[in-house]
Amino acid sequence: MEKIKKIMIHSLDNKNINKLNNYLANINDKNKTELTFDDGLYSQYKYFNYLKDVNLKKIYFISTGIIRPLLNIPNNKILSSEICHSNAFANDFNDFMNYDEIFNLNNPYLNSFIGLHGHYHILFLGKTKSGKRTKYKVSIFNKIKELSYLEFFQLYRDDVIQMKNSYINKKIQIRHFCYPYNIEIPLYRDLIYKYLDTDKKFIFYGNEREDLEHL
Ligand SMILES: [Zn+2]
Repeated sequence: MEKIKKIMIHSLDNKNINKLNNYLANINDKNKTELTFDDGLYSQYKYFNYLKDVNLKKIYFISTGIIRPLLNIPNNKILSSEICHSNAFANDFNDFMNYDEIFNLNNPYLNSFIGLHGHYHILFLGKTKSGKRTKYKVSIFNKIKELSYLEFFQLYRDDVIQMKNSYINKKIQIRHFCYPYNIEIPLYRDLIYKYLDTDKKFIFYGNEREDLEHL
């Protein structure tokens, strides 16, 4: 079976969309390309009107704990995913989609699906622009390196159980999961099988994807 090419997309703006357009104009076999959108950023929702007509499988990966409250006005300024996460870790969720927006993107007729992307988007590590790893200076996440194995286990188990109990998981059939920061932790996958995906139907996404920024 030929490999499926998976494109990873974060914030969207006109420049990115043009880049994607150019890329899509030059691919031959559209059945072998998927578009994956990470983090539930509001900018992705803004461009859905355009993207919904793109005849490729589209998956929007949402962290179930990082969702804009329904009454909040979205921030219209387009920021990088890392800055949006820093804001979220400081309790400002206005760079992200709300439930109504998320559920609008779940439309099999448009080949568009919601996937899960953790609850806390756990990790202490992020990448700077230069590709160097850096610590997020936030809440529990800067302590994670000091956690014992048991605490680490409990944190991931809690993350999985929160995903399982989330409104998203209760409302729609989920079949896709993407590791936060593309870091494929076997313990995380095992906990997902144990609590969330007991019949092992999920398709896992991570490192194998190609960043739109680098195409
Ligand atoms: Zn992410």
